[in-house]
Order: sequence, then structure tokens, then C-alpha cells
Amino acid sequence: MVRERKFYDLLDVPVDASEADLKKAYRKKALRLHPDKGGDPDMFKEVTHAYEILSDPERRSIYDARGEAGLSEAGGMGGMDPQDLFSQLFGGGGGFFGGGGGRSQGPRKTKDLVHRVNVTLEDLYKGKTTKLALTRNVLCSKCHGKGGKEGAVKQCNNCSGRGVKVTLRQMGPMIQQIQSPCDDCSGTGEIINAKDRCNNCKGKKVLPDKKLLEVHIDKGMKGGQTIQFAGESDQAPGAQTGDVIIVIEEKQHDRFKRQDTDLFTDIEVDLLTALGGGQLSIKHLDDRILLINLVPGEVIRHDDIKVIHGQGMPSQRHHEPGDVYVKFRVIFPDHIDPAAIPMLEKALPPRKPLDKFPKNVLMEEVDLDEVDPRSRAHAMQDDPMDGEPEGEPRVQCANQ
Ligand SMILES: [Zn+2]
Ligand SMILES: [Zn+2]
Repeated sequence: MVRERKFYDLLDVPVDASEADLKKAYRKKALRLHPDKGGDPDMFKEVTHAYEILSDPERRSIYDARGEAGLSEAGGMGGMDPQDLFSQLFGGGGGFFGGGGGRSQGPRKTKDLVHRVNVTLEDLYKGKTTKLALTRNVLCSKCHGKGGKEGAVKQCNNCSGRGVKVTLRQMGPMIQQIQSPCDDCSGTGEIINAKDRCNNCKGKKVLPDKKLLEVHIDKGMKGGQTIQFAGESDQAPGAQTGDVIIVIEEKQHDRFKRQDTDLFTDIEVDLLTALGGGQLSIKHLDDRILLINLVPGEVIRHDDIKVIHGQGMPSQRHHEPGDVYVKFRVIFPDHIDPAAIPMLEKALPPRKPLDKFPKNVLMEEVDLDEVDPRSRAHAMQDDPMDGEPEGEPRVQCANQ
């Protein structure tokens, strides 16, 4: 049995109302009583206070057992700004400092400054330190972020220092809460007399300032990784300074594709080298040349994939290198001297004999012509692999 019903009555709910019932009831009442909608500010405060107590299970049980008197004995009445509770419940908040939320959510923080940097694969392989110049606001050193002489800064009457005006608009059955910056104070919540304004910052409290940041791109970093500079974002009076966050964007490379610590590359090999062995070279990301010796007698086929261990990207933590996967593209000659063919016949496995056909099957000799590049059949010549993103199919092959 509850001792008092006052808070329940203020919200027009039964004493066994659920939390959802309470919220619904408060919403209904608060929208009607909101001072911006011409409601009675005292009544709005009372209803808000009732909701504040009843929506907190601990305080609700104290109220149920011992009434309002019990609450003040228990202490910690909290005195929350009814506007804040209202904003918390029904959205809004936000305001000027991206961090969101009303004053009840601890100190404001200025927006983090996010900056993307394009980094080449070469730089991610070797590591690099790069300098980044950025302009951010710092507190005016003359007025120390006050905007004017001591005492010159007055709270804006129009918005009671909130910087925003809340208007409620009926949209059919819905009531919409609209927040807009206060016109009188341009959303600052403060008014400074022109003659008392700080002449250094013109009353803005902050001034733009250039800052040079040294960004260390560590060996093996990847696209999407971030480097954080705590407290280097815009300063604002009374707010914690946000961070500068550098986001690494990995530039596409024309010879290498990367997957974690592995690199994938294509290499062309002429038919003679593919069949008879020889040397190939790959220019690495640090300009070293990787020299590949193809052993005579071991045939490299078109689209073969081989691996060079330990020459991939360094891992970020211990800089342990991954591997380089090499896919061979065998380049065939356009012509061959017919006089040389007997030597090929000696070297290569014999021709595959023609299939056997029954005697009664009609056989007709046909000509093979070059394909007109404008014809539709030309599409057949394209390697289907070329159309796809090259990294993935090659990985699949490599894992076979
Ligand atoms: Zn100033
Ligand atoms: Zn104002």
C-alpha cells in the first residue's frame, strides 16, 4: 500500500503504473504543460519532478513506503533541470558541440576532427613520418575565452542562456519538438555589450590557430586504421577539447594488391623462359629487386601461382613479413619459324591424336579466320578473371 498518491496523481496514472505507462503519461502531460507551448512553468516543473522520482525505481520505492518526506530524508533529491529531462526523453539536445546531450551528461566535448590521409603502399611498407598542418580554434589568449571584460558577459534573456529555442508544432496527431539557434545571441546563450567585447577575438572567445602535427605511419599499418591526437581539436570555453583523428586510407597500387601481410602481383613470362627456365625480376615496394630463377626443365604454366615467402608486408606488431604471391602470365609468340617445329616435336610431349569417329559420320574441313574485333564473339577472348577484382580469385587459388 502506498502512503501518498500525489506524484501519481500529478501524472494521472494508477499507483501500479509500469515504467512505460509513466513515460507515456509524462510525455503527454509535459507536452501540454511545456512553457514554450504556453504552459504553466511551475506545473511543468512539478510534473517533471514527479516523473523524475517515479521513473527511478529506487526513489519510487522510497516514495511509496515513506512519501515525499521520506525522499528528503533519504537525501539526494537531485534537482534536475526540467528542460534537460525533457530534452533527454524526447530527443533534441545536441546543440553546438556535436558531443550531444544536455548539460546533465557531464562536461561537453568539442567535436573530434577527423582527417583522412592517403598513404601509398610503399609508405605502409617502409613506415613514414608525415607532417600535417591543420587549423583549429583555440581559446583567445587575451580574454581567456570569456569574450570580454570580467562581468561584461550577460546571459541571453531570450533563450535563458540555452542558446536554443524550442518550439512545439502540432503535425496532425503528432507533436514535434523543433530546436533552433536563438536569434538574439546567435546560439551562444550570451550577450556582450559591443563596447565591452574583447577586441582580440571580437567577443568570439576563440581564434583560429595553425597547428603542425607529426603523424607517424608505422610499418604495416592498414587502411581504415586511425591515429589519435588527444585534445588537439577545436577548443571552446567550458568544454573539453575533442581529439584529432587521422584515418589511414590505403592508395591503390598499380603492381601490388594487399591482403593483410600478403602481397599479390602479376608477372609476365615469355614462353621460352616459361618452358626453358631463366630469370625474372620484381621491383619491390622499397625499390629492391627480387630476382627469380626459373629452373630449366620446370615448366611455368599460364596463370600458375607461386609464393615467395617472407617478402610480404610487415606485420604491425613485430614487423614479421608475410608472403608475395606471384601469378604468371605466359606470353606466347605471334609466329614461329616452321623450320624450328621439328625441334619442338622433339622437346615436347607428342600431339594429342584426333578423336576416333565412326566411319559413317560426315566430316567437313573448315577454315579458321581471325575474329573481327568489333564482333560480339570478341568478348570470348577476354579472360574472365580480368573482369573481376583481382585480389580475391588469386587468394582462392593460392589456398588450393
Ligand atoms: Zn578574446
Ligand atoms: Zn539567446
